[in-house]
Amino acid sequence: MSFNLTVLGSGSALPLFNRFQSAQIIEKNDKLYLIDCGEGTQIQLINLKFSFYKLNDIFITHLHGDHFFGLMGLLSSMHLLKKQNTVNIYAHKDLLDIINLTLKPNETDLSFKINFIALSYNEVNLIFKDKYFEVYSIPLNHSLATCGFIFREKIPLLNVNKDFLLEHNPSYDQINGIKNGMDYKDGNGIVYPNASISHISKLPSSFAYISDTIYKPDIVDHLQNISLLYHEATFSNEFQQAAIDKLHSTSAEAALIAKNANVKKLMIGHFSSRFKDYSILLDEAKTIFKEVIAAVPLEKHVIDY
Ligand SMILES: [Zn+2]
Repeated sequence: MSFNLTVLGSGSALPLFNRFQSAQIIEKNDKLYLIDCGEGTQIQLINLKFSFYKLNDIFITHLHGDHFFGLMGLLSSMHLLKKQNTVNIYAHKDLLDIINLTLKPNETDLSFKINFIALSYNEVNLIFKDKYFEVYSIPLNHSLATCGFIFREKIPLLNVNKDFLLEHNPSYDQINGIKNGMDYKDGNGIVYPNASISHISKLPSSFAYISDTIYKPDIVDHLQNISLLYHEATFSNEFQQAAIDKLHSTSAEAALIAKNANVKKLMIGHFSSRFKDYSILLDEAKTIFKEVIAAVPLEKHVIDY
């Protein structure tokens, strides 16, 4: 039941060899969820042997090319592989026009349906839920409509205590009730409070993906105690003015968000191509928030802290 995150790309607008552009994939049991889809995303997915058949949900933060130019190639390969399952795409409404226009000259229907969910950018919205996650969009402040995404693991079912099971031998329905938080009443009418007969197997984890944005301190209210926060860190302190002008963040600002949101761990990425070596970005972040790592393509992280 592990909740894994793999970085596929961590560069910004100008490409750098081996850094690739923004894309990350979440893996939870049988399901995959893709966040952003910069150029080369499908190559990275193939590199890591992720199955295109298991990927049915794609979340795009905004329509700058470094976050979605890989999408048409990926959809095209899914079609060539005769994928059947519907692909849900969560993005700005204009992306649907771009997809339709790109497909038009082919005059061939894709092997799968696209279910397009247009995002709104005014407030935090619950945009998706399934058996594992609730996903929220969170508005950011960039040069065009942009949002981040917060993945919150659902609270897992409770485990029934073994000694209680042996002593009382409850029915299947009763066990299900206890797993869902109900008390147990035995044949003599004695009530056993749920807390005395069950326990939590694992606390739910969470992941937030804060894409391109100028430093936006009010997002910390929505990021409290997140297990892993990915925050863009395009620039170092030296380029503070460039960060302001281009509506990006410095690594110190990303660290300040992590600190004020009391997150467990921070991952920085979306590095400007001027930083062939991003250690300065890591060092500057560490002066503010110690638990920081760099987004490195092809590295997998287990989110259970
Ligand atoms: Zn970008």
